[in-house]
Amino acid sequence: MTEPYLVGLDLAGRRVVVVGGGTVAQRRIAGLLAAGADVEVVAPEATTAVEGMATAQELRWTARGYADGDLEGAWYAVACTDDAGVNAAVAAEAERRHVFCVRADDAPAGSAVTPAVGRHDGLTVGVLAGRRPRRSAAVRTALVEALQAGLVDDSAEPVRPGVALVGGGPGDPELITVRGRRLLARADVVVTDRLGPRELLDTLAPHVEVIDASKIPYGRAMNQARINELLVEHVRAGRFVVRLKGGDPYVFGRGFEEVLACVDAGVPVTVVPGVTSAFAAPAVADVPVSHRGVAHEIVVVSGHLAPGDPGSLVDWPALGRLRGTVVLLMAVERIAAFAAVLIDGGRPADTPVAVVQDGTMRIQRSLRATLATVADAVREHGISPPAVVVVGPVAGLAAGPVTS
Ligand code: SAH
Repeated sequence: MTEPYLVGLDLAGRRVVVVGGGTVAQRRIAGLLAAGADVEVVAPEATTAVEGMATAQELRWTARGYADGDLEGAWYAVACTDDAGVNAAVAAEAERRHVFCVRADDAPAGSAVTPAVGRHDGLTVGVLAGRRPRRSAAVRTALVEALQAGLVDDSAEPVRPGVALVGGGPGDPELITVRGRRLLARADVVVTDRLGPRELLDTLAPHVEVIDASKIPYGRAMNQARINELLVEHVRAGRFVVRLKGGDPYVFGRGFEEVLACVDAGVPVTVVPGVTSAFAAPAVADVPVSHRGVAHEIVVVSGHLAPGDPGSLVDWPALGRLRGTVVLLMAVERIAAFAAVLIDGGRPADTPVAVVQDGTMRIQRSLRATLATVADAVREHGISPPAVVVVGPVAGLAAGPVTS
């Protein structure tokens, strides 16, 4: 068997005909549209997603069976019906017209094959492995993961100085975003907090400077102004700085202050959203923060100030009147006061409460209680920060053992 010739096609604005409207077509279409192709789908029936793309005018859908002549003017064709006879007819017309054609059911019978494709930071990786698609997919995935983890140095040009404010997720190193991971692998300097995926720091190259800006609750705090200064100083010294935050940078993380400081100093800054512990910690403890027919609202509240504190911006009486979900962060120390003020505001004392400490981490612990009992339960179980408190009927739901 001859080796195929691997090539990159510029399909922008060029007619591509996809015969078939099932899930195989759907998978191929996504890549074709991303390449800017002018896609026509020919199929009597199509998946809801393909139909949706037709409605949104991302492609044209000709709702009938394939007929000879459909490939007129095409640069490329994909035959992916579940009828081998139709696919063969499409391939035959393609051959006649000198149009390259992929056959989904019988790759060697087509004149082109689709490689396993991966993307990373403007790089496209394509892998062909003869008739062994699992092998090509596995190699593709390994390559992309190696690039994401920074194991392959693909930096043809130096990284531009600037700050990336990266939401690292709740703690499990697998819960950072793909973009966050990629930028972390490019960092010259990483400024961390106590929260977030600490294990990822082990994966950094030895030359990367790690600065711990831990703001341990009720402990030693590195002044926020000093953190802001540090970010700016390092960028001015020509470095690319990742400010790695726990959860999402803008959920009670002072992330916006850091962005403003960078903007004020004229330093380039980008934000990468993250998976917030407000939703992730409950999720891994079998608590959905919303559920149809149970909770149609979710309010995330900071507990860093007591209910009566003059600086508090929280309308506790209003929260007491809610029927949905209230998620409290930084609330462990004052849980008795928060439970009391919610009950005073009208929330029934038997409202279910779940408390999740160190969510998504190996040391994760959780408990279930009610508004009336949660303060005692927290004390008894020795719950300490970081923990998320979920108040509302969703905290009384459980699916049973869910592996995460
Ligand atoms: N930006 C972060 C929140 C910062 S405020 C985010 O989006 O997750 C810090 C509070 O977040 C902690 O006091 C705790 O309430 C919560 N928290 C952060 N990580 C947590 C985790 N892994 N498990 C439980 N709570 C967590």
